[in-house]
Amino acid sequence: MSHIMSPTFPTVRLRRLRQHPVIRDLIRETELNLDDLVHAIFIKGDKGDKQPVLSMPGHYQIPLSKLDEEIEEIVNLGIKSIMIFGVPSTKDAYGSDSFDDQGIMQKAIRQIKKLAPDLLIISDICFCQYTDHGHCGFMDDHHGCIDLNNDKTLELLVKQSISHVQAGANMLAPSGMIDGAVITLRRALDEAGFEHIPLMGHTVKYSSAMYGPFRQATEGAPKYGDRSRYQMDPANGNEALREAAVDIMEGADILLIKPAHTYLDIIYRVKQTYPHIPLCAYHPSAEFSMIKAAAEKGWINEKRVVFEVLTSIKRAGADFIVNYYTKEVARWIINKE
Ligand SMILES: [Zn+2]
Repeated sequence: MSHIMSPTFPTVRLRRLRQHPVIRDLIRETELNLDDLVHAIFIKGDKGDKQPVLSMPGHYQIPLSKLDEEIEEIVNLGIKSIMIFGVPSTKDAYGSDSFDDQGIMQKAIRQIKKLAPDLLIISDICFCQYTDHGHCGFMDDHHGCIDLNNDKTLELLVKQSISHVQAGANMLAPSGMIDGAVITLRRALDEAGFEHIPLMGHTVKYSSAMYGPFRQATEGAPKYGDRSRYQMDPANGNEALREAAVDIMEGADILLIKPAHTYLDIIYRVKQTYPHIPLCAYHPSAEFSMIKAAAEKGWINEKRVVFEVLTSIKRAGADFIVNYYTKEVARWIINKE
């Protein structure tokens, strides 16, 4: 036997370990569980039919009248957490529906809590789907240039957050990358007696093309300009560590990185730098739709690609993943397909 095939040569040892499926399971480093996945859903209107989101097959804008059956299905599949996005029927400059006690989110949260009190509700906190201009906050004139008014936006974010928590939300995810959002919301929640509600900052949110189908689902595309002034440049990585440092200092309980699959290096670096802070990754709509489209064409094995992609996000360092595949993953696990 040549020395290459010596029993101590590393590749031989690895091959030995991989040959038995049980040993493969025993030494597996990363395992994707249903408990690692948060299912994202869209809610719109009181009555009528579910409206399919054309660019996200299998996803719908769900009216309140159809919400109970959706929630029952989610619970029966063993899913324990959801992130919800409301699409209001009216929009204005302030995004008033987002802090109205009779707003779409408030009504939906109350309805879900009544039906499934144990289902964890993570509430998206932002303005883009509530404002008539589609930006993530209040816009006004800064010396002849229309821009986001950060302070006014913070004031409105507090109103929105308290109102969602009063309706029954278990966790808040401010998604607009508004300066000072985490510290402002933390103080406001504590003062209002909601010290127990965790905040998951959208710590690292890139100005990405991966949100396209989502904007169709939430009808929240900006009417003018873009969000590059308050979202990160995809070319920058070090900056993510600075954003994470700020969010931790402000009191974020969980950090969130979005997108996920195209930013595995960022997930890895943030987790390596802050291993003691829970990390969530958001697998956004376009990352979902790209897999869906290829699967519909028969070009890929959808289940294998989904498990591989979600596992890679976990392997990079995410503790859990908000995504649009949770129901399918649950079915694949239940049916052992
Ligand atoms: Zn937004």
